[in-house]
Amino acid sequence: MIDHRKLGRELELFHSDPLAGAGLPIWLPAGAAARHAVEEYIREEERRAGYQHVYSPPVAKRQLYELSGHLPHFADDMFPPMRLSADDEFVLRPALCPHHALVYRSRGRSYRDLPLRIAELGGMYRAERSGVLGGLSRVRSIWLNDGHNFCPRDRAGEEVAAVLEMIQRAHAVLGVRPAGFRLSLRGDGDKYVDNPPMWEQTEDVLRGVLKELGVSYVEAVGEASFYGPKIDVQVVDAAGREMTLSTVQLDFHQAARFDLSYVDRGGERRRPAIVHRSVVGSMERLFAYLIEVHEGAFPVWYAPVQLEILPVGDVPVERFSRAAIVAGLRAEVAWEGTLGARIRDAARRKVPYVAVIGAREAAAGAVSLRLRDGREQGPLPRGGTGPDRGRGPSMRFGGAPP
Ligand SMILES: [Zn+2]
Repeated sequence: MIDHRKLGRELELFHSDPLAGAGLPIWLPAGAAARHAVEEYIREEERRAGYQHVYSPPVAKRQLYELSGHLPHFADDMFPPMRLSADDEFVLRPALCPHHALVYRSRGRSYRDLPLRIAELGGMYRAERSGVLGGLSRVRSIWLNDGHNFCPRDRAGEEVAAVLEMIQRAHAVLGVRPAGFRLSLRGDGDKYVDNPPMWEQTEDVLRGVLKELGVSYVEAVGEASFYGPKIDVQVVDAAGREMTLSTVQLDFHQAARFDLSYVDRGGERRRPAIVHRSVVGSMERLFAYLIEVHEGAFPVWYAPVQLEILPVGDVPVERFSRAAIVAGLRAEVAWEGTLGARIRDAARRKVPYVAVIGAREAAAGAVSLRLRDGREQGPLPRGGTGPDRGRGPSMRFGGAPP
């Protein structure tokens, strides 16, 4: 059976070391290269959708999470506080929302500022029990593609709908195959903010959006966030386990906790709604899923190495490999071993393009390409044989996301 932990090891994507701790994976160069490409794509999509990016630290004072409601409602999932002095306690954050609320209130806001869309790929921590940890799918250190849209309450539906469209676009580009949409509702117990009218209002908005978009969904009682209902996009991993990848959540609670407001057209002070959203979820869970769904053979645009250059004999390839790298490709040259062994190794690592350059190709300024699926192309003229040939090979190799 396909297992991202096994493939992750074989492809040297990530590493777990008992000395670092369970559930605290280290991204190796190949995994980091793929993740970086995905992060850049998401950041650019967000920029185009009007998001502004921020950075905030994964540690903050305990009081911040008392105010947000995380400590009263979510403490079981958090690492215990760290005491620096008698009146100074810090916690590893369990979510980014409180920092983004502070971004919102870093200055006064008027209706002209809204919707204010704040995004960050930020670190956060969950005190998962060691028994449930595994590979990248359940971790204690999480890098979340997070974002918060502060908007007038009567515009929240539009924001939610726009996020769902963005999620669907990203899934198509990444090769995610969603198993379905889930409307996650509150359940019984003190896990949820006690404010029934607020829950009814926010649940109505989400139902309305789902109806408008015409997507089918299931309802799941007891799966909401403590502050509001959410629409989750579920995926199923290779072992058949269902999990949430993308999410959009509607929150009429935290703005009041943080005393967030804006001045409307008539000069009245109003509370914004907060739409919490993650387009692709955490990098860990996303890659656990992508490794399995693609069986390690990522689409070219986020393949760790896109082009493996295999010289045969003592042919010069330096200029070609430089041109490929300068053109934006992740390219590397392999010299060691027989040509057959190097081709097999590139195939084992699922490199999408292998360029074999022998004396004939070198003399002709050409390159023969082997594709990951076994097809061969070539010989093709090389982009980087002469000085300053400019464009390089990126057009042909599809270095950018579609
Ligand atoms: Zn949030």
